[in-house]
Amino acid sequence: MSVTMQLLRVFRVDQQIRGLQSRLKTAQRFLDTQERQLNDLSTRHASLQSQIRQLSASAANIEGEANQLQLRIDSLREKMNTSRTNKEYQALLVEVNTLKIDKGKLDEEALGLMAKIEELRAEAAQLESQMSERKGIRSVAATERDQRSGEIQDRLTELQKQREAIVAQVPADALALYNERLRKFGDNDEGVMAAIELHDVRRHEFTCSACQTHLPVQTLNALLKGSLTRCASCQVILYIEEADAERLSAKQK
Ligand SMILES: [Zn+2]
Repeated sequence: MSVTMQLLRVFRVDQQIRGLQSRLKTAQRFLDTQERQLNDLSTRHASLQSQIRQLSASAANIEGEANQLQLRIDSLREKMNTSRTNKEYQALLVEVNTLKIDKGKLDEEALGLMAKIEELRAEAAQLESQMSERKGIRSVAATERDQRSGEIQDRLTELQKQREAIVAQVPADALALYNERLRKFGDNDEGVMAAIELHDVRRHEFTCSACQTHLPVQTLNALLKGSLTRCASCQVILYIEEADAERLSAKQK
């Protein structure tokens, strides 16, 4: 078997491994998205809770002040009942009225805060229901990720064993070149190995399927001989599709 064919076998196995892993990656990405959204919701929820706590403390302070004023008003009223002169009575009445206005303002302020707190509580409750919904989705996503991982595990182990066996037969220099392409182009198959495309053999019209550059006939000949051959333009390791190789050898006979 030619070195190109050996590398192609490694490449085909690598494609299958990547294919399997990509399904797992999709499930993992979906799970990650759920985690992120859940985190966002809990951050917003925590911030609402802290606003509610602050506003409740302010409302309690204001209510305390209002109660103090009420006590003062009550005691002034008692004094009014026992006042001896009209002048004294009128002076107390003016003070009571002023305090009532002040208390009215505080009551209003407290009511405003209570309304705001209610609003925030409703918002928090809405977030809680969104969080519980999101937790459900996250749990489904986690199960699916685990399932995917479990599903591909056996096949992955099998492919990795297969790869080891094939790789052991590939000459070291060819393998080093292949691995270098793999490191550089990882997820992009076309950067590692690409087929030569035969458009018109008689007119010597061949291109690299990775970069579409026109390739000389020498490249095809080298491939037919099975030599390790790269595209002069994009440096991809070239191979010839089995069907094309058969077609060419049939023509030559
Ligand atoms: Zn190319």
